[in-house]
Amino acid sequence: MQRTWADRAAEHEGRLRQTPRRTSSAPAASLLALQRTAGNGAVARLLARQRAGGAAATAAPPTPDFLVRDVDRAITETISHAPAAFSQWNGTFSWRSKWRLRLDLRAEVGQLQVIVRFKTDASATVRAAWERAILAKWSNKFAFCVKREAPIEVSPGVFDRYEEMYPIRIVIAWVDNASDAHYVIRANAPGATEGGRAGQGGTTSMVGWGTADTEDITHEFGHMLGCPEEYFTTNGINFVRPGGQGFRDPGAGVMNNPAGRALARNFEVICQEAATLRGVPRARTEIAPWR
Ligand SMILES: [Zn+2]
Repeated sequence: MQRTWADRAAEHEGRLRQTPRRTSSAPAASLLALQRTAGNGAVARLLARQRAGGAAATAAPPTPDFLVRDVDRAITETISHAPAAFSQWNGTFSWRSKWRLRLDLRAEVGQLQVIVRFKTDASATVRAAWERAILAKWSNKFAFCVKREAPIEVSPGVFDRYEEMYPIRIVIAWVDNASDAHYVIRANAPGATEGGRAGQGGTTSMVGWGTADTEDITHEFGHMLGCPEEYFTTNGINFVRPGGQGFRDPGAGVMNNPAGRALARNFEVICQEAATLRGVPRARTEIAPWR
């Protein structure tokens, strides 16, 4: 597997070197469109040419196609201010956030993959339903962005703030051996309980997923990505919306309400780790909507 990748990367690098660089200039207003279609490298080359007064840019030193980083970090959350009826929710909870980041730097397919390996005894049908639900909620919604030192005004009042944008794509890998997995998922029958907790369709916890559930698991997947709850007051932040009860509130994000959307802040740990992988300070990076 490693060898195949290395071969492909080498082939690709060779192809890149042979690809003639285009010398025509595009209007600045199309920079954003170019970045979203041709990728970061194309924009960088275009800007380099513009800065060089239209002269052909000198060949950049070879760079790797992929950067990989294995993440395994402790996450802790403290829930407080739950009303009396939910007081058992108050407390401090810890778990580990584990996945692999693969930053694909190739200009035409630049992306940040978050690869999570699961082992489970659930059927192929259930696995497919879980995977569809997770991807629909978390994948391709936001981009990891590296900011420019100074924004570029691409047309009057319109600024391009990003030097690089990598759509964040979730990759679920089903593995046969627990030793290869980031998480071993227990497949629960509908109605299952765990420590007095019961969610939808049998989902009871981060690694106890209901075979009839495709909603609560998207919240549990958020914990794997390093997201704390957004219940009541969590880590000192009040998440209770006006008129809301503090959890499963209509319109709230997925970490409050599993039916809700993933929010930019839910990618914070990914952003920190991706900044390290890219070799830039967190302050120079940002999570931005992709679509
Ligand atoms: Zn939770």
